[in-house]
Amino acid sequence: MPKQPMTLQSRRSMLQRLALASLGFALSCVRPRSLSPENKGGAMNNESSELRFQAIHQVVTVRERHWVGDGFYVSTVFSPHRMNPQMLSPFVLMDYGAPRHFPPTTERRGVGEHPHRGFETVTFAYQGEVDHRDSYGGGGTIQAGDVQWMTAASGVVHEEFHSEEFSKRGGLFEMVQLWVNLPGSLKLSAPRYQALKGSSFPQIRLGGATARLIAGSLGGKKGPALTHTPITMFDMDCSDSTTAEFELSPGTTTLIFVLSGEAVAQEARSVRAGDLMIMDRDEHGRVQLKAEAGTRVLVLNGQPLNEPVVAHGPFVMNSRQEIVQAIQDYQAGKMGTLAPTL
Ligand code: MN
Repeated sequence: MPKQPMTLQSRRSMLQRLALASLGFALSCVRPRSLSPENKGGAMNNESSELRFQAIHQVVTVRERHWVGDGFYVSTVFSPHRMNPQMLSPFVLMDYGAPRHFPPTTERRGVGEHPHRGFETVTFAYQGEVDHRDSYGGGGTIQAGDVQWMTAASGVVHEEFHSEEFSKRGGLFEMVQLWVNLPGSLKLSAPRYQALKGSSFPQIRLGGATARLIAGSLGGKKGPALTHTPITMFDMDCSDSTTAEFELSPGTTTLIFVLSGEAVAQEARSVRAGDLMIMDRDEHGRVQLKAEAGTRVLVLNGQPLNEPVVAHGPFVMNSRQEIVQAIQDYQAGKMGTLAPTL
């Protein structure tokens, strides 16, 4: 990893690697179980809307895994390179590192200095710890249960490593990194860094499940994360087998990722660890999960932006021209640099 600010040449070769990585996303294997809308309305669709289940648009399972740096062995659960970005909006991309054991080491494992512009990275540490440092002054350790919400906006340069303590100790590591898009009007706004402690998330009982509310409103409570557009985000843990239900705003995007376990959704469809369920945005209704003990899910919900999405490497903009500008601004050092580590 670079100890000095990157040279123009190293910036160029890094950008080439990132472009290749995004090509890798485009070529990697996706195995959709269903390509057409299914289960329209579910089993209880003939009564009032209060009783209706939201239709499932699609269930996607990705088995491909790849390394991000030498610290993150992830599946790209969704990305604009192989799915319709409008269907995912305002969410852009999600990497999931399923639980993996890392032996103790004195080496730093992770990803060195790289830029982002035009969106937000949201990092969930489920097991293990991530150290983060960025050119805007943000930094710290994301501990198990914490979420870091970094608004790259006009541009930051950052690095992401396993924490020194976790590396020395070794152990199970499990994380999610989600990219949340920003509307064109905010893509060049000031960066922001939110370190959200697990203890700050209100807990809500959904049947026998416990939800931790990260952003938005649920069950009369509010999550602590500040968002630029309407977003509701929570994870849910079922220690016992239970039925959990919730309902989100009409016309919004809802993506449900199963982190572990198994559940029957909408009394119709079985989903298990590694599956992403995309709900039908045009079909308002409740979501029901009949979950086995030990099931954990992450629920992402947001207002679609309805803007063009042009994603290239670490940048997400509205046009090719804005991508070219981002590359030029990065190469010119306009996104800042990290201070050398000691
Ligand atoms: Mn990054």
